Amino acid sequence: MSMDKLDELRDGFAERLEALAAKALRAPGGGEWGEVLREYGVEPVVRAGAAAAVACGFQPARGALPLELRKVFTAVRAAFGRKAAALREDLTARGAPANVLHRLGKLGRQLDNMLEERMSAYVEAIRPKATLGGIFANAAATSLRFKPAESGTTTLKCQCCGAARLEGTNMRECAFCGMPLFKDEETGDDHER
Ligand SMILES: [Zn+2]
Repeated sequence: MSMDKLDELRDGFAERLEALAAKALRAPGGGEWGEVLREYGVEPVVRAGAAAAVACGFQPARGALPLELRKVFTAVRAAFGRKAAALREDLTARGAPANVLHRLGKLGRQLDNMLEERMSAYVEAIRPKATLGGIFANAAATSLRFKPAESGTTTLKCQCCGAARLEGTNMRECAFCGMPLFKDEETGDDHER
């Protein structure tokens, strides 16, 4: 039944993200995370890049860098996008009712939202507990490193992890978690990658 297949796909996506985030949390320690990166064809974030990433956000208390997890998530999202496209083709060919196709049209956006929610939860999980010394250190580092907000402009801050964009960089993605800092043009609900 078509509705079930849709739910199945969405549940499968959620389960995959959950399992991968759990493995990311356990990294490093054992080659488990390295295996995940290899499986999804994701290059480990190189040392220098990792240092820059940490400067942008915070030193994770544990787990793989969010940037790596997002790259893995993006690969999973692409795979599920292909599954959704195949499902749409199949349902259209079988003359599925309009409401089913309508739900399917919203699926891409739903998967994107699930990905962002899971990323945010991961970032929260690896965020070190705030200590008073840490807060002062962060404040000092932040005022040195980041441009003050210019009048009439909004400070670019990552919606996922809260990191500010590094001064003097032209990055379109957060260095820490990889979230796009600029929204692309709004696409319709039917948009599928
Ligand atoms: Zn971020």
